[in-house]
Amino acid sequence: MLELRPNCEFCDKDLPPESTEACICTYECTFCTSCVESLLQNVCPNCSGGFTARPVRPSTARRNNVSLASQPASTKRVLSKYSRQEIEEFCRAVKDVAPEMR
Ligand SMILES: [Zn+2]
Ligand SMILES: [Zn+2]
Repeated sequence: MLELRPNCEFCDKDLPPESTEACICTYECTFCTSCVESLLQNVCPNCSGGFTARPVRPSTARRNNVSLASQPASTKRVLSKYSRQEIEEFCRAVKDVAPEMR
């Protein structure tokens, strides 16, 4: 199950579970759409994979015990250990390879 991390790992923007601006990679590294499109160019700086939009977890339980109340979002903020320069260099080297070919 997704952790639903609370922030962009680079710019620290809040990304609450209902946000439509949250992007995740296969390891659930989490960034905002702005960082993914401009800085990262669809390259995860941690694993080199591509991103997809993070699905919104429903807040209304239309099935028993299946909702944000039963499986709450993470509150543990995660910030990148890499500098902007390190990220730019890494992403520049990978961005021209399609995610399915990485
Ligand atoms: Zn961001
Ligand atoms: Zn990743």
